[in-house]
Amino acid sequence: MGGPVCLDFVNTLDDRFSNEPKELLKSYIDLARFGEDTGILSAQQADHFLEKSMQSRKAAEEALSAAIELREAMHAVFWSLIQKKPVPKSALFVVNSYAQEAARHMNVVATEHGFEWRFEEAGNFNAAWWPIARSAVELLASDQLQFMRACASETCQWLFLDESKNHRRRWCDMTKCGNRAKVKSFYTRQKAAEP
Ligand SMILES: [Zn+2]
Repeated sequence: MGGPVCLDFVNTLDDRFSNEPKELLKSYIDLARFGEDTGILSAQQADHFLEKSMQSRKAAEEALSAAIELREAMHAVFWSLIQKKPVPKSALFVVNSYAQEAARHMNVVATEHGFEWRFEEAGNFNAAWWPIARSAVELLASDQLQFMRACASETCQWLFLDESKNHRRRWCDMTKCGNRAKVKSFYTRQKAAEP
């Protein structure tokens, strides 16, 4: 976690390239929890959505399917950029459509210090993915895009933004993948050193 929320969100299909990808968004509840963990939703909003999703299951399911469609389109765009391949037009179109839908729910509101773009606080299940779609188009149009990376661990390949000073970060998380890779090369060396 940390960095643009769109990248964290792409990682909710864990072990994406393995034989058994792990879907971390099994229900709308998981999506609401993701929203709460990443600060998209306040704890009160998340609780409200959790309760409401029990009563309006169909609407909650639809919002979850939308979020997953957005996630897969974002992944297709980001992954082709990382691979230095042309971005699929269809995927970019989907990301744009979601971002446009999200923008329809943004308002400029007066704050103590001036004005701010804010998402409306309507009880719309889709509010859980609006900021994610926004984050994706902001990242695409930003000069930070060049620092988007995929984790060097073959089994992980999570996306992250390399905000390190020299921009040479290789792992999504040093404690998780970095250490795993180090331990692995340690054992390989040990093995090679064996008589
Ligand atoms: Zn990793």
